[in-house]
Amino acid sequence: MAEAFDVVIAGGAAMGSSVAYHLLEEPGFSGRVLVLDRDPSYRRSASALSAASIRQQFSTAVNIRISLHGIAFLREIGDRLAVGSERPDVGLREAGYLYCATAAGAGILAENHALQQAEGADILLMGPEALAARFPWLRTDDLACATWGRSGEGWFDGWSLLQALRAKARALGAEYRAGEVIGVEHKSRRVTAVRLRDGDRLPADAVVVTADQPWTLVPGLRAPRRPIWSPSCVALHLGVRDELPGQAHHTISFGESWRGVFDELTRDGRPMTDPSLLVSMPSYTDRSLAPEGGQVLSVVAPTPNLDPRSGGNPHLDWPTLGPRYRDELIATLEARGWSGLSGAIEVEEMATPLDWAAQGMAAGTPFALAHTFGQTGPFRPSTLPRRGPENVVLAGSSVQPGVGVPMVLISGRLAVERITGPVPA
Ligand SMILES: Cc1cc2nc3c(=O)[nH]c(=O)nc-3n(C[C@H](O)[C@H](O)[C@H](O)COP(=O)(O)OP(=O)(O)OC[C@H]3O[C@@H](n4cnc5c(N)ncnc54)[C@H](O)[C@@H]3O)c2cc1C
Repeated sequence: MAEAFDVVIAGGAAMGSSVAYHLLEEPGFSGRVLVLDRDPSYRRSASALSAASIRQQFSTAVNIRISLHGIAFLREIGDRLAVGSERPDVGLREAGYLYCATAAGAGILAENHALQQAEGADILLMGPEALAARFPWLRTDDLACATWGRSGEGWFDGWSLLQALRAKARALGAEYRAGEVIGVEHKSRRVTAVRLRDGDRLPADAVVVTADQPWTLVPGLRAPRRPIWSPSCVALHLGVRDELPGQAHHTISFGESWRGVFDELTRDGRPMTDPSLLVSMPSYTDRSLAPEGGQVLSVVAPTPNLDPRSGGNPHLDWPTLGPRYRDELIATLEARGWSGLSGAIEVEEMATPLDWAAQGMAAGTPFALAHTFGQTGPFRPSTLPRRGPENVVLAGSSVQPGVGVPMVLISGRLAVERITGPVPA
């Protein structure tokens, strides 16, 4: 007879492991949990490749609350996810985000700041003088004000978070297996089993789907009618034999025409001509991540996705364009202060929209359904779909509440509530 599970989770990266952990730490739950992932190395998962930044500076209360929950979880992670005497450390650095406004944007920034403060986020609103005193390197003559996260904002290591959630879930009894879910079986409105690509069939009382397009796996679910997918990105990971002095852990490097890139990415369907880049160099703060005298860094360059209805471009020839674009990114970084980079690269790996698509991510983007008004909050696909089987819970980036690590942490708990009933805060 086939083995049977109380809950089977499809997708075992940060979201799947968060669900497994939250489920098994719930005192009222004593079931058998299986986590399946088609690639248990998680090499290409968004969780492993994430820039893993967290901020509180949002303009809606619900986003701020989700993110405050996220930072509280990350601060307590050593206790929450300890396994025996092993206390995980995800390298959280609360260095703050700085949002600057000219006179035209000052009102909105002040309004957002009032909301952030009311919700309990530790954000400072500064005029030009205070700003110049705190950040002497910043040109402030055209700025009316800025907001800065004094605490609660910064970055951490996404890979360590995934491993910590996974280790804790396993310690609590979750079973992990390699396996690609290709569909679920159901009887009337209840799922009875999941089917795997290798032909296995695993009976389950409830199924949690964290994969990007759940409607391709679960019969009866409806795909969004006119989806707008987020822009995609090229992620370039480098190991270099150089200390890259003068560079920081996290840098957002804007091009001169940073407004123009929005049109290129979401209207014209072409790569940025003057790229704005996110560069993370985690070995700057954790020297164990790179050999002596070297650094590891990840460069994220937004690109159009593959869906023309979302402003993307399915005709970009990434196998040809990719290597050229890689050279362009390196040259741009050299010109912006990462001098010596190109000659020091020892190992590298690049993911393009085609790689994200090969992961099963719709429109070749790891950032899922865009957070447009019509795809946010109550309008985003629900975690408990109205159509389809009633014992399926959805927990991926394209469903409520959305994309990002704070969402992973809150969604883990939400998914459990869908299975066990309300969990005390
Ligand atoms: C380059 C980049 C930068 C980012 N930066 C940030 C940031 O700064 N801050 C932030 O908050 N968020 C950021 N994110 C987003 C964040 O990392 C993701 O929202 C989060 O990691 C999603 O976790 P997940 O487990 O849902 O998805 P994933 O990590 O993609 O995991 C999905 C898993 O499901 C598995 N899977 C898929 N289909 C199947 C199937 N049919 N059967 C079995 N297994 C399956 C896959 O193998 C994969 O392991 C970033 C993402 C990327 C890619």
